[in-house]
Amino acid sequence: MAEKLTSRPGGDHQGEGGGTSASASATAWEPVPRSRTFELVLARIEEQILAGNLHVGDRLPPERELVELLGVSRAAVREALRVLEAQGVLRSRVGTGPSSGSVISAMPSAGLTQLLRLHMALANFPLTHVVEARATLERSSARLAAERATEDDLARMREQLARMDDPELTLEEFNDSDTAFHVALAEAGGNRLMTDMTVAVRSAVRGALLAAFRELTDWEAVAERLRAEHHAVYAAIAAGDVERSGDLVEAHIRGFHQHIDL
Ligand SMILES: [Zn+2]
Repeated sequence: MAEKLTSRPGGDHQGEGGGTSASASATAWEPVPRSRTFELVLARIEEQILAGNLHVGDRLPPERELVELLGVSRAAVREALRVLEAQGVLRSRVGTGPSSGSVISAMPSAGLTQLLRLHMALANFPLTHVVEARATLERSSARLAAERATEDDLARMREQLARMDDPELTLEEFNDSDTAFHVALAEAGGNRLMTDMTVAVRSAVRGALLAAFRELTDWEAVAERLRAEHHAVYAAIAAGDVERSGDLVEAHIRGFHQHIDL
C-alpha cells in the first residue's frame, strides 16, 4: 500500500480534456451497455431511505413484493439486496412468513472504514491529499475536543499516552495506540461522523504507515518526538485551549508525514 500511495504523485485526474473534439465526429458505434437492473433497484431503495420513508429497524417489503412493486426480475432484486447486505445497510432476512424480509440497519462504522480503505488503496490519491484531509479533519476535531472533552474523554486519551510511553512497545503496538489516541481525540470532539472518518482514514493508511515506520533507521527518536507531541496536544485540549489544540495536532500530522517521508 505504501507503493500505491506514492506511485502516482500526480493523481489520476490528469489527461482529461483537450484533444477530444477532433475525434468526436469519428466516434464509432458502440454497443449499448447491458441494462444493470439491480442498480436501478438499489437506486429505488436508496431513494426511499433518503426520502425518510425507510428508517433503521424498518423492514423492506419481501422479495416477491419488491419484484411486483418495481416490475423487475427476482434476480435483480436479490442482487440489489446482496449488495446492500454487503454494505451493512441491510440485515439479512430471517425466517419466512410475515416476519421475513430484510431489515434496514444502522450502517456500522466498520462498513465505512472498509469502503474508504479500499477506495484509498485503489484510487491512488497523492499523499499530499491524504495528509491535507487528515490535517483538516483532526484540526477540527481537536478544536471541538478543547471545547467539549469530558473527564472520561480525557481519561481515555491519557490511557493511550501512558501506553505509548512504554519503551517496550513494538511498532505495531505503538501505531495502534497512536490511532486509539487520535480516535479518542475525535470522540472527545463529540462529532460521530468525524470520529468515523478518523477511524476510516487511519485504518486506510495503517499499512503504509507501518511500512514507513519499518524503514526508519532511528525509530526510537521518532517515537520520542511523537510522544512529546501527543502530550502537548493533550495538554492543550485538557486546558480548553481551542487555537493551540488545533495548531498542535495539525503540526503533529504534517510534521510526522514530512519526517517519515512516506
Ligand atoms: Zn499521533
